[in-house]
Amino acid sequence: MIHTLPELPYEKSALQPHISAETFDYHYSKHHLAYVTNLNNLIKGTKFETMSLEEIILGSEGAIYNNAAQVWNHTFFWNSLSPNGGNEPSGKIAELIHEKWGSTASFKEEFQKLALSNFGSGWTWLVLNKENQLQIVNTSNAETPLTKGLIPLLTIDVWEHAYYIDYRNARANFVAAYWNVVNWDFANKNL
Ligand code: MN
Repeated sequence: MIHTLPELPYEKSALQPHISAETFDYHYSKHHLAYVTNLNNLIKGTKFETMSLEEIILGSEGAIYNNAAQVWNHTFFWNSLSPNGGNEPSGKIAELIHEKWGSTASFKEEFQKLALSNFGSGWTWLVLNKENQLQIVNTSNAETPLTKGLIPLLTIDVWEHAYYIDYRNARANFVAAYWNVVNWDFANKNL
């Protein structure tokens, strides 16, 4: 199958001032698109040509895995954000966060700590683990929790290309801004 760049679930300017339209011009329209294009070129004439994106991620390695996982991760990231996001979590995700961390503030503190300690390029995720417990995990480069049997609930991209236009080298400011646009409804939907 031919993989396509999914539509953004909001306008490129919708998350300003936290994430600029210019960042989306690069991060979505260039980086994400490049992963889609690379993937389509790489799978031509291989057994992966007929597979779904998830099947490719679970069955490949090397360049095909890297590009497929990055296609999936970025789509998941755009959905982890919303112009109506931020505020306090509600519903089931709020219950689980309070059960595990006692407060949203403590959860955010640990998530931020992991996001800042993720060396180099990668992703920080809130997942449901095999014990059905919330967990915060880091992955490197293109790695995705899908291959580790974890259920992703939310993510933040901490590759430098995710924040360099808006925050230069200050990853901490980008992670702090994330809380203003984080999509708790999406987390609830993934539970
Ligand atoms: Mn990215």
